[in-house]
Amino acid sequence: MSFQDKSLTCADCGTSFTFSANEQEFYQSKGYTNEPKRCPSCRQTRKAERGNTAFQLRRTQADVPGKMRSVR
Ligand SMILES: [Zn+2]
Repeated sequence: MSFQDKSLTCADCGTSFTFSANEQEFYQSKGYTNEPKRCPSCRQTRKAERGNTAFQLRRTQADVPGKMRSVR
């Protein structure tokens, strides 16, 4: 079976984005039957909001001084 790139509209920001043949194949291999409703950047935003925002913030704050110290 072959897939073709598809143009979809994001439900969040209204941007049109490409649901590529590769992604369609990936979706099917995962058993997903519905198309993505959001563009990749909105999907990422939602993923980040879903829980690890605080974790990421802490990580960033911890990383910066650590790096500076190891450079010196
Ligand atoms: Zn979007």
